[in-house]
Amino acid sequence: MALSGLDIYKLLPKTNCRECGFVTCLAFAMQLAKKAVSMDKCPYLSIEAKRTLAESSLPAIKLIAIGEGENKLEVGNETVMFRHEEKFHHPPGLGFIIEDNLDDSAIKKKLEKINQLKFERIGQELKVNLIAIRQNKDKNRFVEVVKLVAENTPLALVLMSEDLAAQEEALKLVGVRRPLIYHATQDNLADFAQLSKDRAVPLVVSAKELELLSTLTRELNNQAVTELVIDTGKKPIAEKIWDLTQIRRLALRKSQRSLGYPVLVIVDADDPYIETTEAATYISKYAGIVLIKGIEVERVMALLTLRQNIYSDPQKPLQIEPRVYPVGQVTNKSPVLVTTNFSLTYYTVLAEVEASKVPSYIVSVDTEGMSVLTAWAAEKFTPEKITDSINKFNVRERVAHNQLVIPGYVAVMSGDLEEKSGWEVVVGPKEAAGIPAFLKNLYL
Ligand code: SF4
Repeated sequence: MALSGLDIYKLLPKTNCRECGFVTCLAFAMQLAKKAVSMDKCPYLSIEAKRTLAESSLPAIKLIAIGEGENKLEVGNETVMFRHEEKFHHPPGLGFIIEDNLDDSAIKKKLEKINQLKFERIGQELKVNLIAIRQNKDKNRFVEVVKLVAENTPLALVLMSEDLAAQEEALKLVGVRRPLIYHATQDNLADFAQLSKDRAVPLVVSAKELELLSTLTRELNNQAVTELVIDTGKKPIAEKIWDLTQIRRLALRKSQRSLGYPVLVIVDADDPYIETTEAATYISKYAGIVLIKGIEVERVMALLTLRQNIYSDPQKPLQIEPRVYPVGQVTNKSPVLVTTNFSLTYYTVLAEVEASKVPSYIVSVDTEGMSVLTAWAAEKFTPEKITDSINKFNVRERVAHNQLVIPGYVAVMSGDLEEKSGWEVVVGPKEAAGIPAFLKNLYL
């Protein structure tokens, strides 16, 4: 946990010698708390003080990287319990379990579908992250399937086997891709610790009870194994939420470093609705990695959308660049629609304009990412701002008509806007869903 300036001051020599460049030790402490200066500037810090300061600057939940290159997944390094306090930083990895008792062609088919699970939503690419290969058969089959999966997907890997020899063989093939190995328990701790160290790969450590889990991570740390993901095993959903919440609380609020790691959750429900609901729950609170079996587009899209919403900054609405966007093969007769630069609003309008097949211009006004009614109420979407945007983006030079379409919810500003802009204002539909019918009947 970060120390306050006064906490830091207590660790300093308090001689006010000025060698750090500050007039007093207190002034130095205040700057150190703000991370505006390095502790090395004080040559008189005791070893104990250095250790305390170094520990206090570590993240409460360690950042763990799995995979390599553009498919590398980073999880952890969260700083708050609730997203309204600041924001959540690293979206949980969503992965799929492939059983090694499936035949090769079924595995390839699954991978083909999983590789295509990419969606664009409000200007961002949403994608899945991991493939977990789970051992059910012998070592040779597990290694064979790991090879097959590695050859058929660029996604990061999780190797799920308690057979040390199988893990060793698999790591010879895919170790360079920095897979996550699953899992060390109380019984095999030393062997898996050695494997994780030798191969420089992150390790899942599992125990049902938090106290034991905490003891195991401390033992692993003592053996210099720190790239950890933790897991509390299979439990009913209510117990799992309790675990996830307690782990987060203990790491953030009680500075319990032995639980300061991302948490892996395996959803092993057979009912697709229960599986999706459970996965959604764990994405919301507070999993670092969620592994599921179902690969159906509609389920995955719902989970990725939820994840995107939760891991956006609640204090900074997603927004697009304010400018004029031509949609389709526009001409000087194309309609001009005005909206805000809130991503969700813009992309909803865009989708409906595209669906209408009427090439149009969309003018996105800078409302600091607010939606139409919010921006209007906050005086960010006013006749003056719309007029400024129309002029700034030279919309008049693009079209040979004089009509602006505004959202139906702000019909009240139409007279004022006509006066200020000199354009004829047409009131469009209140809901974006009405745009296709509206555009088809618009007379320019
Ligand atoms: S160098 Fe250290 S002891 Fe001297 S004033 Fe700065 S903080 Fe205090």
